[in-house]
Amino acid sequence: MDCLFCKIAAGEIPSNKVYEDDRILAFHDIAPVAPVHVLFIPKTHLAGVRDITADNADVVAHIFATIPKVAEQLGITDYRVVSNNGAEAGQTVHHLHIHLIGGATLGGMV
Ligand code: 5GP
Ligand code: ZN
Repeated sequence: MDCLFCKIAAGEIPSNKVYEDDRILAFHDIAPVAPVHVLFIPKTHLAGVRDITADNADVVAHIFATIPKVAEQLGITDYRVVSNNGAEAGQTVHHLHIHLIGGATLGGMV
């Protein structure tokens, strides 16, 4: 499948990693919108939030259990967690990813 984040998960395209295990990867966004801007992805391909089901939600829970640990490592206590689902919502890479954004006072949601 021609998917940028599958290629990053496979190591075919380099990324600046902040966390990795057998199921998930977190790496710095290439175009950060705040001092901390990290993307969390499952290594298995899901197109977005719309693809989350009871059968695969364990990896999503694992991402959410990891986010506070990575945030602490990066020295932030206040942050925003967001996932754009669909082009109208601003999704540009169609592999599920959760943005961790912080390190500054954040503006409005849209
Ligand atoms: P979306 O717009 O789909 O919610 O988020 C996609 C994010 O991926 C954007 O914030 C964009 O800057 C980031 N991004 C796109 N291509 C790359 C890349 O090759 N490497 C990294 N690290 N981030 C990328
Ligand atoms: Zn993918």
